[in-house]
Amino acid sequence: MMRQFELVERVLSYDPDADEDMLNRAYVFSMKAHGTQTRASGDPYFSHPLEVAGILTGMKLDTSTIVTALLHDTIEDTVASYEDIDRLFGPQIAKLVDGVTKLSRLEHLSDRTRQAENFRKLLLAMSTDIRVLLVKLADRLHNMRTLHFIKNPEKRRRIAAETMEIYAPLAERIGMQELKDELEDLAFAELNTDARSSITARLKFLREKGGNLIERITDQLKRTLAEAGVEAWVSGRQKRPFSIWRKMQRKNVSFEQLSDIMAFRVVVADVGDCYRALGIMHATYPMVPGRFKDFISTPKPNGYRSLHTSVIGPEQQRIEIQIRTREMHEQAELGVAAHWRYKQGALADTRDSVQYRWLRELLEILEQASDPEEFLEHTKLNMFQDQVFVFSPKGDLHALPRGATPVDFAYAVHTDVGDTCVGAKVNGRLVPLRTALQNGDQVEVLRSKTQTPSPTWLHFVVTGKARSCINRFIRHQQRQQYLDLGRAILQKTFREAGHSVTEKALGSALKVLKVKTTEDLYVALGDGTLTGRQVLEAVYPGEKREEDEKVVPLARARGRQQQKGAGGIPIRGLIPGMAMHFAGCCHPLPGDRIVGIVTTGKGVTIHTIDCEALEQFASTPERWLDVAWDQDGDGDQRHVGRVSVVVTNEPGSLSALSTVIAKNLGNITNLKITNRSPEFFEMIVDIEVRDVKHLSNIIAALRADPAINSVERARG
Ligand code: MN
Repeated sequence: MMRQFELVERVLSYDPDADEDMLNRAYVFSMKAHGTQTRASGDPYFSHPLEVAGILTGMKLDTSTIVTALLHDTIEDTVASYEDIDRLFGPQIAKLVDGVTKLSRLEHLSDRTRQAENFRKLLLAMSTDIRVLLVKLADRLHNMRTLHFIKNPEKRRRIAAETMEIYAPLAERIGMQELKDELEDLAFAELNTDARSSITARLKFLREKGGNLIERITDQLKRTLAEAGVEAWVSGRQKRPFSIWRKMQRKNVSFEQLSDIMAFRVVVADVGDCYRALGIMHATYPMVPGRFKDFISTPKPNGYRSLHTSVIGPEQQRIEIQIRTREMHEQAELGVAAHWRYKQGALADTRDSVQYRWLRELLEILEQASDPEEFLEHTKLNMFQDQVFVFSPKGDLHALPRGATPVDFAYAVHTDVGDTCVGAKVNGRLVPLRTALQNGDQVEVLRSKTQTPSPTWLHFVVTGKARSCINRFIRHQQRQQYLDLGRAILQKTFREAGHSVTEKALGSALKVLKVKTTEDLYVALGDGTLTGRQVLEAVYPGEKREEDEKVVPLARARGRQQQKGAGGIPIRGLIPGMAMHFAGCCHPLPGDRIVGIVTTGKGVTIHTIDCEALEQFASTPERWLDVAWDQDGDGDQRHVGRVSVVVTNEPGSLSALSTVIAKNLGNITNLKITNRSPEFFEMIVDIEVRDVKHLSNIIAALRADPAINSVERARG
């Protein structure tokens, strides 16, 4: 196990300004916190975070990253809390450790291979600081290096598969080639032990047969380049078993047919030398056609730059050669981590090329220590920031647009789930349906067979699917309600004229009224396109009717509605916002005398009989519709009543107002101050009540309170 001073010295060797004290404290804290815990290998648990820190010193990362590595398992696996870390190491370290902890928790859900792509995105999206991801990858690397100690073969396999599908591609994505290669090879050893050992055995045989072949070729290449005047550092290696295996698979060839199992790296001073070295190689050795790639002029998306070629090189061996500058080399091995190191120093001019802009920006933003949102906004990692990734209770991963709510989630799972959604639990807690989901949330939809989609959902859903499903339902529902309303209107009109409604009688009038079916006829009546009078006229043309005057004085119109009394069409079951609306001017409540006004295409608006707004409809009596509240009430349906209140401008008067309303079981839904003077506040208060009697009680109670000057039911 690495000693405390060794770790500190390693960090100081590349960062003389490192916070020695903090490193020492983290070492001791983690060692004490993990105490007597042990690993599957029998080693003290503390050896693990220490090794992870060691891996990261290899990437020459900053003090915060190394400290985070030392502490990375303390929140999850020891009694230490976020608050402890925050108090002892500061908020930045606490956030980093917390970030790694969150990623680790996701691992328990990740054994679903088909979701690997989404899972990688989730990890990226959750790594709001790139150092979180670096620690996580180093953590995984050490766990893979010690994988063989785990006894349960299933668990080993799961971890290896996850590494292959998620972590290795993730390392590649951020340009860490070396890490990616090692992760893949370790996973390969577990997943395909036989294949790997036969490749390894074969490589060993070739190595022994060829003597120090790699060395000889390396020397030869170096000499060739030196003779042509290019100074280069050349290294050779056998390819890793996994990359040989993959090539065998991809090309469908046997090991014997596979010629280039050796790769050589040529590292030179600058870009000019790269192309010069390439020219020398191609001039000296026959090149293998179709293998040349120029990743300097066209870097890979992860920023990788190099020249690749294959030649029949020294000793008639087919070899792969990668040519790059020192800086490209570092970048290729360490990717983002390499760039992280330039955080403190100036970024070299050579790095000014377009493909590194995102990294430079990333570092700049990190330096400014801005919030994670902004950080991601400006980096390449933000490519997934327009999405959130959430889990079903079973662990299925769903990608949704940012701002998505449990309703969007429900519809994403299935239309039926959305249609019957009544509530949701996020991470086990009940939340409002309009809650915006966060990355990694586990969402459980609560359903009820009797529930139907609510039009109010349209205010907050963000997915097209949810929107169109809700709209389709509303259109269907609306038609049904127009149909019911139309049927009621027609029956009433016919009854008053001494007729009864029959399918046969209506059938004959369809053509005249230009509608296809009787259903369409009812809908047209319900939405106000047709009036009852028009239908009556079409069925019984020329019949003499009373009350044919065009203009009814308002008073008489009101009087007539009043006389009809309880004979109105019951408005039960009409959902506000569809076939029927409550007028915003007078806020009718159950118990009020009401009248309906038909608006073509929009159904019926309910006003109180004394509403001033009715004046504008005095000249169109055909639009007046006699309606009535249900005899048996509306069950639990609540209605909004509006009152205007004047209270004295002094401490406690507002609280007196809300207390009185609450005591009388009213619920304030809106409160607007309309006038303010040194002595008084005038305001409009909307209160949810059962009916007009309920509101009257509240008004009376308010009037009895000394803090309240006057209360009136508001009209308009
Ligand atoms: Mn760990």
